[in-house]
Amino acid sequence: MTEPLWQAQILTLYPEMFPGPLGHSLAGKALDQGLWRLDVSQIRDHAHDKHHTVDDTPAGGGPGMVMRADVLGEAVDAALADRPKDIREEDWPLVYLSPRGRVLDQELVQEFAGKKGITLLCGRFEGIDERVLEARNIMEVSLGDFVLSGGEVAALALMDAVVRLIPGVIGQPDTLAEESFEAGLLEYPHYTRPRVWEGREIPEVLQSGHHGRIKAWRQEQSERLTRERRPDLWKEYLHRSGKNDMDPAEDD
Ligand code: SAH
Repeated sequence: MTEPLWQAQILTLYPEMFPGPLGHSLAGKALDQGLWRLDVSQIRDHAHDKHHTVDDTPAGGGPGMVMRADVLGEAVDAALADRPKDIREEDWPLVYLSPRGRVLDQELVQEFAGKKGITLLCGRFEGIDERVLEARNIMEVSLGDFVLSGGEVAALALMDAVVRLIPGVIGQPDTLAEESFEAGLLEYPHYTRPRVWEGREIPEVLQSGHHGRIKAWRQEQSERLTRERRPDLWKEYLHRSGKNDMDPAEDD
């Protein structure tokens, strides 16, 4: 097998959750083919007491438990030592999945896809001891403004988004370019057979075979959907393309 194009290391209390959904479909096939590689390690293996304790009560009181700095520090160091030889730090981000982190978006996904690999630390309980983040200079990445019960689902989502950008994972690379966010817009609506379903017909333009009109229609739809649903993206798009939202010519 050739060198994988991208690798992920997972630190978790639930190694059996991996590769989970990423063992199936396109990501799973690519994993089998060795296009990317996944190494999962059990954080608990780095606990030293007889009960393999990984958590303890929060300093200062309060509910729940916190993952211990000593155990995590050792788990992180073992993972870092396990990376391919001569890897440069900037080619291999070290990430803690956390609701406090930078919210994952396609731009960050692309950035990760351009690296050699990534180390993903999955939290549980109330989270992890802050000192580990400082001492190991760990970047925090969030899946969105909601709270999960652990970092594993977030890690799977992040890897899914990255893996599909690896060359060879998706059959037709041109499907990528048209997708939501790639141009800063949401994607246009899709249709397929049957031509009429429950009295609803596929838009006429898509049946015209006229590539220029189809392209223009799709662009219009993308812009309309983005303007209606995601004013934040729309504003950014207008800004980037040097257009002015107030310009009435842009609205039709
Ligand atoms: N007490 C924390 C939440 C802990 S949830 C707080 O209020 O911020 C337990 C673990 O789930 C976290 O350590 C983190 O790894 C993961 N997690 C929860 N929500 C997440 C999100 N939106 N994105 C990424 N990881 C998340």
